[in-house]
Amino acid sequence: TDAGILPEDKPIDALVSASAPDLLSKFDGLIAERQALLDTGVRDPFAIVMEKVLSPTEAIINGKPTILLGTYNYMGMTFDPDVVAAGKKALDDFGAGTTGSRVLNGTYHPHKDCEDALKEFYGTDHAIVFSTGYQANLGMISTIAGKGDYIILDADSHASIYDGCWLGNAEIVRFRHNSVEDLDKRLGRLPKGAGKLVVLEGVYSMFGDIAPLPEMVAVAKKHGAMILCDEAHGMGFFGEHGRGVYEQMGVEQDIDFVVGTFSKSVGTVGGFCVSNHPKFEVLRLVCRPYVFTASLPPSVVATAATSIRKLMHAGEKREHLWKNSRKLHQGLRDLGFKLGTEEAQSAIIAVILPDQEQAVGMWQSLLELGLYVNMARPPATPAGTYLLRCSLCAEHRDEQVDQIIGMFAAAGHSVGCIPA
Ligand code: PMP
Repeated sequence: TDAGILPEDKPIDALVSASAPDLLSKFDGLIAERQALLDTGVRDPFAIVMEKVLSPTEAIINGKPTILLGTYNYMGMTFDPDVVAAGKKALDDFGAGTTGSRVLNGTYHPHKDCEDALKEFYGTDHAIVFSTGYQANLGMISTIAGKGDYIILDADSHASIYDGCWLGNAEIVRFRHNSVEDLDKRLGRLPKGAGKLVVLEGVYSMFGDIAPLPEMVAVAKKHGAMILCDEAHGMGFFGEHGRGVYEQMGVEQDIDFVVGTFSKSVGTVGGFCVSNHPKFEVLRLVCRPYVFTASLPPSVVATAATSIRKLMHAGEKREHLWKNSRKLHQGLRDLGFKLGTEEAQSAIIAVILPDQEQAVGMWQSLLELGLYVNMARPPATPAGTYLLRCSLCAEHRDEQVDQIIGMFAAAGHSVGCIPA
C-alpha cells in the first residue's frame, strides 16, 4: 500500500476492517430467527432431501415413504414412459449438454422441435424456449419494457416478474392484487403516449386464486397497454386445450405474450414465451437472459416436447386433477382449516396459519405422518403470512386424497390449530 494514503495514527488492521464490513452481516437477523426456530427441535423446512422418488406422488424422505403434496407436478408427467424414453434417446443421440448459448452452438434439433411442440400446443406463430421459467420472465419483461416505459403489475406477482421489471429499468406501478378497479385507476394516471405493459398471472401461486382476466384485459386495452400473462400454474389443465386460464376465460386473442414453465405440468425444467406478435423473433437477438446463458440439455427439451404433445390429449388426467383438488379443498374446509380461497380455483390449496410456530409445527407433524407439503413464509408471501401450500397431482389416487385429509386432521389436532 502506498504509505502516503494511510492516516498516520491508525494501524492497518483497523483500517481494513473499518473499510471492509462483512457484507453478509445484513442477514444476521434472519440467521438468528432461523437458529431460534431450529433450537426448538423442528426440522428445517427448507432442507428436505428426497432420497428416492418412487412416482410423481411418492418419495422416500428420512427413510420413510411419503406422499408428495407440494411438487407442482400437476399432470404427473415426470415418470411418463414416453417422456422418459425421449430423454434417454436424446441423451444418447446428442450428449449431455450443449455447452453454449442458443444463438451460438446451443441450438440442436430437439430445441427447435420443442419450440414446434409449443406452437402446436398454443396455436401461436412463435415460441421461444429459455433455460428456466424464471429466466423467461426476466428476459421477456426486461426486453419488452425498458427505460421510459411503464410496467403495471399485480402486487402479488412472482419474484421473477419483479426481477424482470428491475432488470429492464422501466417505471414500476403496482396495483392491488386482482383489483380491476385499482388497475384502471393506476393506468389512468400514466402519460397517454407512454409504452405500457400490464403483467398478469392466470393462477397466483401463493393462495391458488385465479385472475379476473376478461375484466383486466378490457381495462388494459382501454388504456392502450400490451399484456403479458404468466400461465406457469395454469398450463396443462385450464381451458379446452390445457393452455391456461386465459384460454378458459376466452381472452386468447387479447394477450400479447404468454409466459410459462416446463417445471410444473410439463414435468421437467425450462421456460418459454409464445406469441403471435409479428416482430417476435427479434427477441432472440436482444433478450439478454436468452443470449447470455447456455441452452437446456437436449435430453431436457426432448422430454419437454414429448410431454407437451401428450398434454394436448390429457382430458382424463385433467378431470381427475380437478376432482382431487375439489375433494381436498372440501375435506380441509370441513376440518376447520382457513384456506386461501372459498372453493378450489386451481390445483393449489393454501392452508393459512397464524404464525411461524404453528406453520412449522403443522409442517413437521405432517412430515412425520408421511406427507410432504410446501411451507411458504415471507418474503415469498405477504408480510405476516404463513402458509402450507398443497398442490395436487392428476396421479394422486382417490385413497391417497382420503389419507391426506386424515393426516391433516391428525396433525391439526395435535398442533391445536383446528377445533377438536
Ligand atoms: N412464474 C411463476 C408464477 C412461478 O410460480 C414460477 C416458479 N414457481 C416461475 C414463474 C418460475 O418458473 P421456473 O421454476 O421454471 O423457474
